[in-house]
Amino acid sequence: MNPDLVVLRLGELVLKGKNRHRFEKAVYEQVRRVLHPFPGLTFNREFGRVYIHLNGESFSLLAERLEKVLGLGSFSPVYTAPLQLEAIQELALVAMQAVGTAPATFKATVRRVNKSFPHDSQEMNKLVGGYVLRAIPGLKVDVNKPEVELKVELREEQALIYSQSFEGAGGFPLGTNGKAMLMLSGGIDSPVAGFLALRQGLKLDAVHFHSYPYTSEKSQQKVKDLVSKLTEYAGDIRLHMVPFTSVQTKIHQAYNQNLLITILRRAMFRITEKLADNYSASAIVTGESLGQVASQTLGSINAIGRAVGIPVLQPLICMEKQQIIRIAEKIDTFEISILPHEDCCTLFLPPSPSTNPNLRVVESIERKMDWLEAELDDAVKQTETIWIQAEGKSSFASFF
Ligand code: ATP
Ligand code: MG
Repeated sequence: MNPDLVVLRLGELVLKGKNRHRFEKAVYEQVRRVLHPFPGLTFNREFGRVYIHLNGESFSLLAERLEKVLGLGSFSPVYTAPLQLEAIQELALVAMQAVGTAPATFKATVRRVNKSFPHDSQEMNKLVGGYVLRAIPGLKVDVNKPEVELKVELREEQALIYSQSFEGAGGFPLGTNGKAMLMLSGGIDSPVAGFLALRQGLKLDAVHFHSYPYTSEKSQQKVKDLVSKLTEYAGDIRLHMVPFTSVQTKIHQAYNQNLLITILRRAMFRITEKLADNYSASAIVTGESLGQVASQTLGSINAIGRAVGIPVLQPLICMEKQQIIRIAEKIDTFEISILPHEDCCTLFLPPSPSTNPNLRVVESIERKMDWLEAELDDAVKQTETIWIQAEGKSSFASFF
């Protein structure tokens, strides 16, 4: 049986946040966005909680979407019953049967807000608990560590019955901590870095460097597909496709030794910094993990990061690959990331890339490239910016 309501609970970071009202508003705006495809829903706010009236819309379809709302702590399906003992008992049983895998233990907790209801909380615990116990063979009561806590609230007009709680995406609500540029390759790491940045309350634009025609259109499509996955959490995302072929070819012609990769990466960072200025972002987010590959030594990270004045955030810096892969699977980017693709940076690899680039040497090589700055500006000008649309559009209608 489909429940009647869904109750939403905000995440800890929202409740403790200094800007609680702004945070709450940001969460509910996202709730409205992801639930846009369900026109039958109505919303109301009571006793500090937000309730969604399903009006026949499927709870499990809604749940899939609510699980992706940043800043949402948890949500529960609720069955409503008239204030009559038999009706409450029956729906309590329905709520217990709705729990996915049949639980071995439970505990009933009844709260009587409406003091005119003839049985008090203690009596009701027994009346509801006993009824469920008799109806489900093998089920036992465990008051200390029950698998399911069956909760009944006796309100003024009706009884609310809960047996399950689902997790929201947690973290900070979308965009409440500012905006950053995500450097997105087609690999496993950068989409995960993007997700963690989103969950930390950052709004993101994505920046991808391609070396068309040396890298294929398929690689570009892959990046669009990855951004599309992130829009499930973030809503519409701007994607900047930077043509890197000309910069890369010129640098390669002028210098082709062990510091080439460092110089190319510095060029990418500087272009991203320029885009950040143009699009009002105050940080760059990348997917480096310290020591994961030869180019991600501290020496390299230092030499590359020094190319820009803007902070470079690396959410994966201290994470192990397995941990990163687990998140990639959870956010459903892993399968896309492992498809074969060409990365612009692997095009002109020098025979032995340096793992400990000397910053002063790098800078003196770059100084000789007096055309470099103009090339970088040109790449910014040639950048193609597109919107990757989220499936459910935000109406931005505030409902309280
Ligand atoms: P990923 O799995 O994200 O590709 P990686 O382990 O392959 O990471 P690198 O190739 O060293 O690592 O790249 C480090 C970071 O630089 C990436 O996580 C990403 O943020 C950025 N980056 C690399 N290539 C590109 C690109 N073509 N466009 C935009 N950003 C890129
Ligand atoms: Mg990569």
